[in-house]
Amino acid sequence: MPLLVMKFGGTSVADLARIQNAAQKVKREVERGYDVIVIVSAMSGKTNELVGWVEQTSPLFDAREYDAVVSSGENVTAGLMALTLQEMDVPARSWQGWQVPIQTTSAHSAARFLSIPRENIDAKFAEGFKVAVVAGFQGVSPEGRITTLGRGGSDTTAVAFAAAFSAERCDIYTDVDGVYTTDPRITAKARKLDKIAYEEMLELASLGAKVLQTRSVELAMRYNVRLRVLSSFEDTDETSGTLVCDEDDIMESKVVSGVAYSRDEAKMTLVTVEDRPGVAAAIFGPLAEAGVNVDMIVQNISEKDLGGRTVNVTDMTFSCPVNQVARARKALEDAKAAGAIMYDDLVSDTDVAKVSVVGIGMRSHAGVAATMFKALAADGVNIKVIATSEIKISVLIDRKYMELAVQALHDAFALETAN
Ligand code: ADP
Ligand code: ASP
Ligand code: MG
Repeated sequence: MPLLVMKFGGTSVADLARIQNAAQKVKREVERGYDVIVIVSAMSGKTNELVGWVEQTSPLFDAREYDAVVSSGENVTAGLMALTLQEMDVPARSWQGWQVPIQTTSAHSAARFLSIPRENIDAKFAEGFKVAVVAGFQGVSPEGRITTLGRGGSDTTAVAFAAAFSAERCDIYTDVDGVYTTDPRITAKARKLDKIAYEEMLELASLGAKVLQTRSVELAMRYNVRLRVLSSFEDTDETSGTLVCDEDDIMESKVVSGVAYSRDEAKMTLVTVEDRPGVAAAIFGPLAEAGVNVDMIVQNISEKDLGGRTVNVTDMTFSCPVNQVARARKALEDAKAAGAIMYDDLVSDTDVAKVSVVGIGMRSHAGVAATMFKALAADGVNIKVIATSEIKISVLIDRKYMELAVQALHDAFALETAN
C-alpha cells in the first residue's frame, strides 16, 4: 500500500469540530487507497498551559517530569482523532510515543530520534487498520522515561515517520496555506511560495520562521522526504501548498527568497575584558556548560591605559534567547568570582530582536548586505550586531522596530513579486 504522513498542528486540532475537519481530510486519502500515519499536535494553547503549570510548580524543574507533563497534550488529541476516525468507519488506532516505540536520546525537552521501529505499526496495517494516529512531539529515552523533542517538535515526528515508513509524501497541515516570503502575519505583502529549497527553509526555520521546526527540515533534507506545507482549513489537492525540495527543482531564483525574524533575543556585553589568547574560550566555555545557546558574537578590541602601561582590551558582545539571560549572567559572574575571567561590567539588553534575509542566490550575488543596511537606515533602524553566512545575513535591532524592519526588507528585495 502507498503510505502518506499527514501532520496536523495545534490550531488544526484546536477543538472537536477541527478534529472532525482534519479527520475528513484523512478519510479522503484512505479512500484514495493510502495507508495513513497521522501525527497530531496538542490542541493550540495546551502545551503553553502545561509549561506554565510546570514552571509555577517548580521553577528549577526536573526536566524528566517537565517532559512527562508537557507531552500529555498530544495524548489527548491522538485518542480523539482515532475515535473521530472510527466514528467515520475508518479503522484507526492511536499510538503514544512509547508504544511505537519512538526511541530518542535522553536529552529531555530537546531529545533527538534514535530509531523508529516499524514492526508494531506495520503489524496493525497488516491486520486491516488504515490509519495509525501517532502523538507528535514525544518519545521514550533509553532509560524508559518520556521525552519531548523541543517546541514545534511534531513537525519533526512527522518527517521522521515519513522517512522510516518510506512515505510517498509528508504533508504538514497548518493555519497558513504554505510557506511565505515572510510571516504573513507581519505583512500582507508576503507571497506564498510554490516551492522552496531545503537549505533556504532550513535557514528560515532556524532564524525564527516557526512554520516548520528546524530539525524537521534537516531530516527531510537528509532522507529526501517530499515535504509539503498546506492549509488544514481549505480544500486542498496534490498541487496545494508549498513543496520543500531540492534547489535543482526550482525555477524561480531570486537572490533573497525570504525574511525571518526572532522576537525574543537578548544582547549581552562583557565590558573591558583583557585581550589575550584563551579569553573567548574562558567566556564561552562556562556559557556552554550552563546550556546557554549563544548565537551572534562580536568582539571590539581597543587599547586601555593602565597607569602609563597600554594594554589591549576587548568588549565581547553576544546574543542569546532572552529567557536565558539570567542563566548566562550567573555563569559569567561565577566564572569571574572563580578568577577564570576578568571584566569591568556585564551589560544586558533584553529588548532586541533578530531580523534575517535568506537566499541561495546570495552565494553568487554581491551587494545584498549593502541593500539590506541601506533599507534599514532609510527607516532609521539602528543595527546593533551583524552576522552573515553563505546564504543569510542577520541583524540584531531594537525589538520595537522588528515589524518595520521585516516590512522594509520585504520591500527592498521586492519579494512581493515573483520576478
Ligand atoms: P502549527 O500549530 O500548525 O504547528 P505554527 O504556529 O507552529 O503552526 O506555525 C505556523 C505559523 O508560522 C503561521 O501561522 C505563521 O504565522 C508563522 N510563520 C512564520 N514565518 C512564516 C513563513 N515564512 N511562512 C508561513 N508561515 C510563517
Ligand atoms: N505541542 C508542541 C508545541 O506546542 C509540539 C508541536 O505542536 O509541534 O510545541
Ligand atoms: Mg508548529
